[in-house]
Amino acid sequence: MTNSESALEHFDDSGIGRVLCIVAHPDDMEYGASAAVAEWTARGVEVAYLLLTAGEAGIREMDPAEVGPLRAEEQRRSCAVVGVTDLTILDLPDGLLQADLETRRHIARRIREFRPDAVMCTTWELEAPWGLNHVDHRATGLATVDAIRDADNPWLYRELRAEEGLEAWSTRWLLVTGAANTHAIALSAESVEKGIASLEAHKVYLAALPDHVPPREMITGITAGAGAAAGVPSALGVRAIRMG
Ligand SMILES: [Zn+2]
Repeated sequence: MTNSESALEHFDDSGIGRVLCIVAHPDDMEYGASAAVAEWTARGVEVAYLLLTAGEAGIREMDPAEVGPLRAEEQRRSCAVVGVTDLTILDLPDGLLQADLETRRHIARRIREFRPDAVMCTTWELEAPWGLNHVDHRATGLATVDAIRDADNPWLYRELRAEEGLEAWSTRWLLVTGAANTHAIALSAESVEKGIASLEAHKVYLAALPDHVPPREMITGITAGAGAAAGVPSALGVRAIRMG
């Protein structure tokens, strides 16, 4: 999702050792972002995923009780493709997420635990480049912005320190996907292939969406578009925001 008209600056991720990716649903990381994850894990960057829901309300014809565990398993497989073993899936309600204090506390807690240099999330805008953004994506993005600041404030959630020894943590970068891109993360051909395979891992979910663009076509298109704007064959476009 890029504006190929404008040039994207190369994002210097050389000083980044840990990245926490925070999204609403299984598959949300797999529209290009997971290709960047593959790039990072290949050179030893630690990457963890935090999903706020199991996406249990995501398949119209199937019962959420069946869909939740199934999509969680598909996400585990997808993570394995791009070298991620640290996957947390919360049981917040799919379709009904709110950017409230409970959600912020969950995210802040994970930030203090994992201590990321960068957090990656999806855009909180209502109107995204591809159309109207899902409520859960909006809530997750917004709650993530606030939780990064919450996690950095030692006077908030003091019980996390008292009970779990979780100290305040300052995240340096917020990388937002699906927003107006400012930067590009260059991708090797191998990382693009892993990105495609990681989306294909959501088999049952994609099979329930017959109009979905085939993963190869979709990921190749997204990464080639950002690549063209950055002067490389393939890239992930991100909005990079300096935090604390
Ligand atoms: Zn989603």
